Amino acid sequence: MTTKANTLLLESHLKTLRLPTMLAEYPGVVRQCAERDATYESFFEHLAELEVNARAAKATERRLKQARFPLAKELSEFDFSAVPKLNKSKMLQLARCEFVDERANLVFLGAPGTGKTHLAIATGRAACRVGHRVRFFTAASLANLYREAWDDRQVLRFEASLRRLDAIVVDELGYVPLDKTGAEHLFGFFSQCYEQTSLIITTNLPFAEWPATFAGDERLTGALLDRLTHRVHILELRGDSYRLKSSMKTTKQGNQSRGRTTTKQQP
Ligand code: ADP
Ligand code: MG
Repeated sequence: MTTKANTLLLESHLKTLRLPTMLAEYPGVVRQCAERDATYESFFEHLAELEVNARAAKATERRLKQARFPLAKELSEFDFSAVPKLNKSKMLQLARCEFVDERANLVFLGAPGTGKTHLAIATGRAACRVGHRVRFFTAASLANLYREAWDDRQVLRFEASLRRLDAIVVDELGYVPLDKTGAEHLFGFFSQCYEQTSLIITTNLPFAEWPATFAGDERLTGALLDRLTHRVHILELRGDSYRLKSSMKTTKQGNQSRGRTTTKQQP
């Protein structure tokens, strides 16, 4: 027979042990298990499972938040038929994020609007879900953060914070050319990540054109590419801009519906 004192004590113990899901769920699980005549072990296992699942979901939420993705793009929303030349099965396999365990890198290469950032974010989010710590930067924001850290004599501290990550997304490499200091900082960044942290990079430039981004420094870019491409998966996105296509579609639909309205208004 369960007394009120039992219940109060149990709830206090669960609070002390910080088991909020068990605390919230146990009355329902008690009822279900009593109805099914379940064993004590299965009751306890079910309750523990609920706590573990809730904790895992919370940890994933925390990792997704800490990654600071600018948008919540998912692989399920990606229309592969828009980029038929993209190796879909390779993309799906990469989204399992074993490459992060192997500390390999991933490069999305293609013209603007072809879905590089979408896929980089989706892969980063998938990595968060399997338990990796991820952070999103644009190449320009990363160079700026290095510059600020340098000015404040905090580079070591900043790099230590990066070392805690399993994967780093560097978006839009090549859009904005870096000056000499920016190039040197990013070279330091690539060196530090080599075999320690996976990089997920999006770029509009083939590797041969990277020196232009890195202040025209061929030697530094060569050394950087050497590290980056030691273990790399490259996915090329060819095709027209999805952005442009969808905005043209919207404009066309808009014109058509405007056309219909005009027709209706005619006497
Ligand atoms: P990029 O980084 O290559 O310039 P984005 O990933 O930013 O391109 O894509 C531009 C917009 O189009 C985004 O809103 C993105 O979600 C969408 N998009 C691009 N390609 C696809 C696709 N194949 N399926 C669904 N949405 C796409
Ligand atoms: Mg982009």
